[in-house]
Amino acid sequence: MSARDAPRPRVHVVHAHSEADSFVTAMKNVIVAEFRDTGHQVTVSDLHAKNFNPVASPRDFLERSDASRLVYPLEQRHGYATGTLAADIHEEIEPVLAADLLVFTFPVYWFGAPAILKGWFDRVLLSGVCYGGKRVYGRGGLAGKRAFSAFSLGAKEGMFGADGIHGELVTGMMRHLFQGTMGYVGLDVVQPFGGYNVPYIAQDKREGLLDELRAVVRNLDDRPVLAVPDLDDFSEKLLPLHENPAVS
Ligand SMILES: Cc1cc2nc3c(=O)[nH]c(=O)nc-3n(C[C@H](O)[C@H](O)[C@H](O)COP(=O)(O)OP(=O)(O)OC[C@H]3O[C@@H](n4cnc5c(N)ncnc54)[C@H](O)[C@@H]3O)c2cc1C
Repeated sequence: MSARDAPRPRVHVVHAHSEADSFVTAMKNVIVAEFRDTGHQVTVSDLHAKNFNPVASPRDFLERSDASRLVYPLEQRHGYATGTLAADIHEEIEPVLAADLLVFTFPVYWFGAPAILKGWFDRVLLSGVCYGGKRVYGRGGLAGKRAFSAFSLGAKEGMFGADGIHGELVTGMMRHLFQGTMGYVGLDVVQPFGGYNVPYIAQDKREGLLDELRAVVRNLDDRPVLAVPDLDDFSEKLLPLHENPAVS
């Protein structure tokens, strides 16, 4: 197969900002343009534009394996296997499964993702497909794919780090997202890009952040991937092996 015939890498962007002229939307536009210019196939799920429902509920299942009581992850498994998930969940999961790289663009709300994106994780990262049982981290259902996030913050850069008032940004404050969600389902989480203090800095500084982001995207393959627990260090029950050899 010649380089021209090789399948183009697929990038799927999940975007969480309501305003077309917001800084986060400008970050999303930079990312989409950069990937399109370099021959990637790019799809975008603009959660506000499609009025995505972020609330996990019994309405997510058109048919139930157990009608008496909802066990959400079990019904996710049944729903995917039988094609009876709500149509919007099907619409969101298929491009995720087709993608080589997932991109998330969002403003930080309360140390994490805004509700519309949090709900997307709840409803779309399906049990049995993206994770389940011992299929987590390196054995997660989305292993082999990468994730990259670009987000904006009100906080200043100096508020983070070992001595910062909020502690480490990526491995502390937002560990639940980068390890506990993206890493957990097996994604290789590329070091995210955070734009600090965005509402309060001058226009030229914000434009500088977009230039920085463009360069990051251009060189994404050289960017480090966050460490996640190595399952070989744990027992079949995912308990520590080395500290307590009696545990199996
Ligand atoms: C509920 C809530 C919780 C929050 N929690 C946190 C928190 O825990 N930690 C934290 O740090 N922050 C927090 N924030 C702040 C929040 O993260 C920031 O307000 C947000 O990240 C700013 O991004 P934005 O895209 O919404 O900016 P916008 O307000 O849309 O834009 C900021 C500025 O950028 C300008 N701009 C737009 N496009 C461009 C462009 N192409 N080039 C240059 N400038 C441009 C806009 O005109 C505007 O002046 C919170 C905010 C809310 C509402």
